[in-house]
Amino acid sequence: MSRDDPYAHAALVAERVVREHDITALKVDPIALANKLGIEVVAKPASSGGVSGMLIRFENQFGIAYATHIDNPGFRGFSIAHELGHYFLPGHIDAVFADGNIHESRPGFNSADKYEIEADHFAAWLLMPDALFSSALRRAGEGLAAVEQLAAICETSLTATAIWYAQCSHDPVAIIVSTGQRIDYCFMSKTLTEFKGLDWIRKNYPLPGGSPTHVLSAQPDSIRRADRNDGTSNLQDWFGGPLSIEISEDAIGLGSYGKTLTVLYGIELPDENEPEEDEGLIIESWTPRFRR
Ligand SMILES: [Zn+2]
Repeated sequence: MSRDDPYAHAALVAERVVREHDITALKVDPIALANKLGIEVVAKPASSGGVSGMLIRFENQFGIAYATHIDNPGFRGFSIAHELGHYFLPGHIDAVFADGNIHESRPGFNSADKYEIEADHFAAWLLMPDALFSSALRRAGEGLAAVEQLAAICETSLTATAIWYAQCSHDPVAIIVSTGQRIDYCFMSKTLTEFKGLDWIRKNYPLPGGSPTHVLSAQPDSIRRADRNDGTSNLQDWFGGPLSIEISEDAIGLGSYGKTLTVLYGIELPDENEPEEDEGLIIESWTPRFRR
């Protein structure tokens, strides 16, 4: 996982919390952690739309309220973990309570607010700690099936788990979230990012025509029913570049969100560091054989 990202600090804080609170197995229970800290966690009726959770301060006491308009344990857990992020991350308490004693959070990795993004990263690291998630990932296989299995183990949303799968995987993989026929965002694994010649997928790019995701996204009812469409597509159709190879593509509708999640995997990249065969022979013949 990338330590040089701008939110690495959130990772370090989450790792410290995991260590100090003896969290040694998945799933991580953010309500139990909050209660251990003396923070009461309550459900909040769906009065203000778009709010996923709230951190409330009363003198030196804190409380967390989570939204119930999306009835999903993954959404609930992430919302609570996000509020714990504001509690643990340096500078957050002053920032989020600058205008009063109630902070309202809105979900999503694409929020523009620095503190919201940092709390989201903390939440992901808390619920999917590096060592525990990576060892579960090694057993989970690949593609959407792996993401689903990890989401069930961590009790995290499919989207958050997919993003973490792409961040942690040592294989060349990518995950894409789209709305209709347009791409919202894409996360690529380190191996895929470092492969030369690929284009970055940008917001609002159209989905590649005829890809399993494109076919699925053309049917809004299928998206609502969380149908899936697994198949193959071409690396070039997604990322441009010089390499025309068949890859595996799994797509699933994200239900009421009207969005589609895509997992690209089974991408067999040529080894860029591998010397040409002739070059190898030259190097071999020029290496002094001191040990022979
Ligand atoms: Zn927040």
